Amino acid sequence: MGIRSGRSYLESLRDGRQISIDGEPVRDVTADKRFAGAVQTIAELYDMQDDARMTFPSPRDGAPVSLSFLQPRTVEDLVRRREMVKVWADATCGMMGRSPDFMNVMITAFASAADSFSERGRQFGDNVRGFYQYARDNDICMTHTLVNPQVDRSRPVDRQDRDLAAHTVKEGDGGVVIRGARMVSTLCAFSHELLVMPSTYLTNTPEAAPYAFGFAVPVATTGLRFICRPSVVHHEAASPMDFPLSSRMDETDAMVIFDDVLVPWERMFIHRDVEMCNGLHNRTGIQPQTMHQFSTKNLAKAEFMMGLGFAVAKATNIDQHLHVQNMLCELIQFTEVTRACLRASEVDAAPNQYGVMTPAALPLWNVRMMFPKMFVRACEIIQTLGAGGLVAVPSYAEASGPAWPDVERYFQAANLDSRSRVKLFRLAFDAAVSSFSGRQQLYERYYSGDPVRLAGTLYQLYDRDAPMQKIWSLLNDLEQRLMNKRSDE
Ligand SMILES: Cc1cc2nc3c(=O)[nH]c(=O)nc-3n(C[C@H](O)[C@H](O)[C@H](O)COP(=O)(O)OP(=O)(O)OC[C@H]3O[C@@H](n4cnc5c(N)ncnc54)[C@H](O)[C@@H]3O)c2cc1C
Repeated sequence: MGIRSGRSYLESLRDGRQISIDGEPVRDVTADKRFAGAVQTIAELYDMQDDARMTFPSPRDGAPVSLSFLQPRTVEDLVRRREMVKVWADATCGMMGRSPDFMNVMITAFASAADSFSERGRQFGDNVRGFYQYARDNDICMTHTLVNPQVDRSRPVDRQDRDLAAHTVKEGDGGVVIRGARMVSTLCAFSHELLVMPSTYLTNTPEAAPYAFGFAVPVATTGLRFICRPSVVHHEAASPMDFPLSSRMDETDAMVIFDDVLVPWERMFIHRDVEMCNGLHNRTGIQPQTMHQFSTKNLAKAEFMMGLGFAVAKATNIDQHLHVQNMLCELIQFTEVTRACLRASEVDAAPNQYGVMTPAALPLWNVRMMFPKMFVRACEIIQTLGAGGLVAVPSYAEASGPAWPDVERYFQAANLDSRSRVKLFRLAFDAAVSSFSGRQQLYERYYSGDPVRLAGTLYQLYDRDAPMQKIWSLLNDLEQRLMNKRSDE
């Protein structure tokens, strides 16, 4: 089939999936006001793929498939993939962290390392490869869930009093039956498939084995239910221009319930295998690939916030003040540091043990660790620059209301007419002040894991000996000089 059109994407979502929100089931996500805006945005992303720069020929039949499914063999491949990811990220201002390319890159990286799954049983590697080919050739939209529900984080999952986490309850000829819950699944309402993989550490005991799995199932599977948080879409907004981001990009987040979900054997990638779960990232080496994807998204997001800051500051001429230029300069630094790390990861890329061109990890780790703080600061800067103007801005609907003569006269800025000022400041409010923005800040803080434990990981993998050695060389050298001087005297 190859790349999907927006229209076929919309039709594919009417499949009986079980989505609950605000205490009611959702009959059709494409028509529901809480989901329809984001569905339309994703459909537009799919339509953008009708461009040779966004695709490569499928090895199966030559049909064009998304570059986000490319298994990179050269640095040029990484650059091509990054450029494709950037087109989508620019279209969403970097605000749809889980646009389909995120999971496409992840499943592609797993498939590139299918041999490491095969080491635990040949069928597992075949299953990963087969699922990747299916996703690539049918342009499947995927969500994933990695983390057990927050019940009691002081104990391992297999030693909790309340057994709520998803686990294997039985297995037979048809496959494996899973019962329990996982959190969080972003984009579930808009996806075709759910990938369930390990992330948190499991104790190496037989009791942990039922929690040690990896698999994929269609979102519309019997017994699979999603309970979404309330939407950040402002249903009563007088104009979509009042919330230009929220109205189109709420990707939703949900808890996933497995009510005895049957996973066919050909969809199992890891089964009762604690060692494989705990060593997954090291064995497969997928992290640099996913970090390359989300650093590209972060670049688009940094560029967007920077452009917004420039425009807001220029509107009322505050960009003439030195401290305002300082804040705008911070936005420039966020953009350029992210760009530099991304490029460095490509320049220093090298093939991994599977022959896959792998971006250098350390520059991308920097983006991963620094971007949450950068984004929160970027929101603070927009708030500081916009100040009271962010709340003294009316609905865009005033343009067609009786108060328009007042609005047209009194909402002008030095460099903007009223209509442009209302548009710009509503966008700034949505990006930096709204509930959509709050969710974005939380997303950046946690979407790739707990920053505390990530910092611990980075500290452990960093080469600390060489820099320490420099310190000791310096001290020993100074000491030697002192001793030489004394013996000369
Ligand atoms: C907006 C958003 C979207 C997300 N989307 C997805 C998604 O699509 N798919 C997905 O799989 N996940 C998703 N996540 C979940 C994300 O993976 C987790 O939030 C992240 O891994 C942190 O885990 P947690 O939320 O369970 O926090 P917890 O582990 O409960 O941590 C909460 C706090 O307690 C501390 N803490 C807890 N346990 C320990 C410990 N053992 N050692 C040290 N400190 C500890 C942490 O440092 C943290 O400050 C999303 C999260 C957010 C916020």
